[in-house]
Amino acid sequence: MRFPLALSFDLTRYLIKMRLQGKDKFPLVLMLEPTHQCNLACKGCGRIQEYRDTLGQSLTLEECLGAVEECGAPVVTITGGEPLIYPPVFELLQELVNRGKHIYLCSNAILMEKSLPRLPRSDHLTLSLHVDGLAPTHDRILGRPGVFNLAIKAIKAAKAQGFRVCTNTTIYQETDPQEIEILFSYLGHIGVDGLLVSPAYSFAGVNDELFMSREEIKAKFTYLTGNGLNFKFFSTPLYLSFLRGERDYECTPWASPTRNPMGWRSPCYEIVDTHYPTFAEMMAQTRWENYGVGRDPRCAQCMMHSGFEPTVVREMGGLADIWTMLRWNIT
Ligand code: SF4
Repeated sequence: MRFPLALSFDLTRYLIKMRLQGKDKFPLVLMLEPTHQCNLACKGCGRIQEYRDTLGQSLTLEECLGAVEECGAPVVTITGGEPLIYPPVFELLQELVNRGKHIYLCSNAILMEKSLPRLPRSDHLTLSLHVDGLAPTHDRILGRPGVFNLAIKAIKAAKAQGFRVCTNTTIYQETDPQEIEILFSYLGHIGVDGLLVSPAYSFAGVNDELFMSREEIKAKFTYLTGNGLNFKFFSTPLYLSFLRGERDYECTPWASPTRNPMGWRSPCYEIVDTHYPTFAEMMAQTRWENYGVGRDPRCAQCMMHSGFEPTVVREMGGLADIWTMLRWNIT
């Protein structure tokens, strides 16, 4: 199964609870950024541009756990920055497991292999390693020779030790889809449990030539995901069909709220106008009606998974969609 049973069960129970409480806007995945410090400076990274004046700041462990409680989302993605250079990361992970959260730990893999013995053993933890291409491409995008080989070594070690591992691939303007096909075949061959894939978002301050228009995104994802090759995507089939231009969705920016050392980021993971001190203030005071495709020019080309995957989960209603998702989950 692509989603562990416990995750499917907890997510369904949470959705029913929110509906019964009559809530219209609620979080599904907390994007927790304990620190924006990183041991790399990737070409497409917005965080090191947006937060360059506060890169030295980190959340305390108590602030991280407070954010998890405030938000209440059943899934927590720990990202950054590089989470494995955040000193209390292991305590944080254990506390999240103790609270029954489902965790995606995003990492550039440099410190992953040596961190494995300190990670909690739990079916609630998924390691999500960044891999943007084969060795020459990946090393160029991440700006350091040898990081592809480190990622592959870390994946093999994590799989050998029984961890659930997925990879996270960002597709840029310059990405060669045929290279990504080879990469995905190879990742399947070495035992990766699933593939997350998303188009890059044109973060402020990052070279615009890296990013694609919606039309270019549709063409690349039609080639990558519509060709009958049975790669084991963790990205849902409905989101992939949106990326191919076969269906249309509005984004759900409040479903993946972001907490970082500056506060609760508003309006979403991709764009920032302000930060709020509490989750409740962010939800209540963000003018959600001002954001989304056609409402804010910064949203025009956005098809990011953090904005649109939650829409799939929230809007899934028809029998055909439910059947598609069930079939995807059990294969
Ligand atoms: S469309 Fe705009 S508001 Fe929605 S997720 Fe993308 S950048 Fe954020």
